Amino acid sequence: MELELFLVVAAVLCAAGKPLSKAAARNKLLLISFDGFRWDYDQDVDTPNLDQLAVDGVKAKYITPPMLTMTSPSHFTTITGRWVEDHEVVHNMMFNTSTNQKVPHKLTMSRSEWWGNGVLPLWITAQNQGLKTASFHYPGGGVKYRGQTVNRALLEELNHPDDNETEWRQNIDTVMSWFSEEDFDLVTLYYGEPDNVGHAKGPDHPDRKKIIQQIDRTLGYLREAISLHHLNDSLNVIITSDHGMTTIKKRPQVDEIILREYLNLIKLASFEILDYGGFGILTPRPGKEQEVFDALSNAPNLTVYKKNEMPENFHLGKSKRLPPIVVVADLGFNLNSRFIVYVNKGDHGFHNGEMDMKTIFRAFGPDFKKNLLSEPFDSIHIYPLMCKLLQIEPAPHNGSLTVTENMLSGGSHRARLSVALLLSMLLLMFSLL
Ligand SMILES: [Zn+2]
Repeated sequence: MELELFLVVAAVLCAAGKPLSKAAARNKLLLISFDGFRWDYDQDVDTPNLDQLAVDGVKAKYITPPMLTMTSPSHFTTITGRWVEDHEVVHNMMFNTSTNQKVPHKLTMSRSEWWGNGVLPLWITAQNQGLKTASFHYPGGGVKYRGQTVNRALLEELNHPDDNETEWRQNIDTVMSWFSEEDFDLVTLYYGEPDNVGHAKGPDHPDRKKIIQQIDRTLGYLREAISLHHLNDSLNVIITSDHGMTTIKKRPQVDEIILREYLNLIKLASFEILDYGGFGILTPRPGKEQEVFDALSNAPNLTVYKKNEMPENFHLGKSKRLPPIVVVADLGFNLNSRFIVYVNKGDHGFHNGEMDMKTIFRAFGPDFKKNLLSEPFDSIHIYPLMCKLLQIEPAPHNGSLTVTENMLSGGSHRARLSVALLLSMLLLMFSLL
């Protein structure tokens, strides 16, 4: 009788102990970014796979990207958990206000001197704690940080097509084999859509709906691939983006902003990036800062800021790289310097408080709760969540785990096990009485 009791107790403890040790195991993490996926893009088109993801995991109502709402600055905030003023990737273009050098966005992807400013992104921090990481086209993944490279980094070719669905699936197959055959712990995967279509045709164009359906099919493919590679119980997935998109207002609907009508740019400014959507930067010539500021203050449909007087919640003012004058156009207005050469029908780069700049957050996998609709939050809080999932010590960051940890199932999982254990013990006692 005593031996019988011992065996039953041992069996119950083993059964309860097995999932407990599994809950403590480190799962893998895939971070996917679909560039320019506005928070509400799935609301006017059929998206069965995204809908199923919301049932099987976590969906945020929307998330807020940092100021400024551009691809490189925002992606780097996600992967570092730092505000733009701290990580200093302050534009899509690399620039030098002294030499007037400007490097286009895609060419910056291999320039360590633009990305590596002392802040370490998640890949490097994870690697330094023994994890294996990779970046597939993700902005900032292809350069050196304090001399260290990401274990494996694929950079986009300069003429890489953004919307090739076959290639999208091949990229998923590749990433799945990195996890299942080569035991990578963290992979970041980037897609250039729906940003490309949003710029070229505008967010309201039927082709934007088509590309959202293509993304939805790709997510269906992703879930099949996860099953095929037996990763359902060991891979967490976060799907997010860098900013939204808004329709650009053009003549004759509005008077477009042409800045030379308000100030003599050659006489007053020694450096400028102005013909780049709704976000502009200027370096006034010596002693001309107030004159530039006053002149731009008279221009309609924009707000001009002195860098050192910007609102604190922009988290831009401490940047050493940003020039002294920053211009943010009203939603949908484009900043033209001298002439209208701008062709985009949609753009971003506007105030991150505008709903059109908000973007998406979805997550699923063994460590996430199911069917949870999260309140909106700032994208900066994704970083500590990723560190928690990977069970690593975060580098210094500006996020907070308390914002996102309610999405995790860990606590309730253990609670369920404790209840199960208690019930088993009670049943056992009754059976022995
Ligand atoms: Zn972008």
